[in-house]
Amino acid sequence: MTKLPLFNIAKRGFCTCLPKYNLNTYLGRCGHKCIYCYAVKFPSFTGPTIPRLKLIDQIEDMAKNTKLKLPVMLSDCTDPYQPLERKYQITRKCLESLVKYDFPLLIVTKSDLVVRDINLIKQVPSVISITITTLNEEKARFWEPNAPSPTRRLKTLERIVDAGIPATARIDPIIPFVNDDLTEFRELVLELAEIGVKQVTASTFKPVRGFFQTLKTLDSTLYKKLSQIYSDGEWILGYKYLNIEKRRKIIEKVRQIVLDYGLNFSSCREGFPELNTTICDGTKYCRKLLTEYT
Ligand code: SF4
Repeated sequence: MTKLPLFNIAKRGFCTCLPKYNLNTYLGRCGHKCIYCYAVKFPSFTGPTIPRLKLIDQIEDMAKNTKLKLPVMLSDCTDPYQPLERKYQITRKCLESLVKYDFPLLIVTKSDLVVRDINLIKQVPSVISITITTLNEEKARFWEPNAPSPTRRLKTLERIVDAGIPATARIDPIIPFVNDDLTEFRELVLELAEIGVKQVTASTFKPVRGFFQTLKTLDSTLYKKLSQIYSDGEWILGYKYLNIEKRRKIIEKVRQIVLDYGLNFSSCREGFPELNTTICDGTKYCRKLLTEYT
């Protein structure tokens, strides 16, 4: 009997997520092709993008056979609204069954295509998180070449908030020398606050093996600077973390800016849960039994 797969907390260091399900509607390399993508450390998320067409036939049974109505996240390793979704609509078909069986939804994406499904998503308790790492279009084009521009992502957040769906923003990853400038960060958080997002979740960059080699071929100056700043960091479960003092300093500064604008704040997989005012995945806004964060 197939059921919805549980989100695997053990794969991620310092993860504070509550139990939930997770559905990756595509395998292979995500079509947004972010240079910093963490998912490429898993063999199933390399190579050409593979639409999981079988899910279209399986999802109804998976939803029906899963009795505990935990939130379902789409997705932890690939963007559920990557370019091929326009054609295959696998995410949409999955949402139709999940909504039918009344599962809360946690959508994480960089794409404005999510707007297509707003009327569906709003039928159950849901949260939509849009990842936006910078307002700078040029930087975004370099780091997230096939993802919608920052401007489109902000407009998407507006549409989500207008539809009455709780929206959060993930400023993730924060990459030293790239998007860690506090003035730029403040501008971004101000935009998010004005739109009406409920929380910002932030996380420092944790390169996976092979990242530095790729960067060396793309930007040798930045490669040298980043290699240097990560040189006293540590590998945790296949991710290179900045040294703890360095990453705590970044997270504390970012946190203060987010709180200055009256938003909730959470770090993600940093090991500083005491700095969080809420849970990183926005789950607070879609779990019926979770009204307070303690
Ligand atoms: S959108 Fe997410 S999953 Fe897709 S390439 Fe970018 S970081 Fe990876």
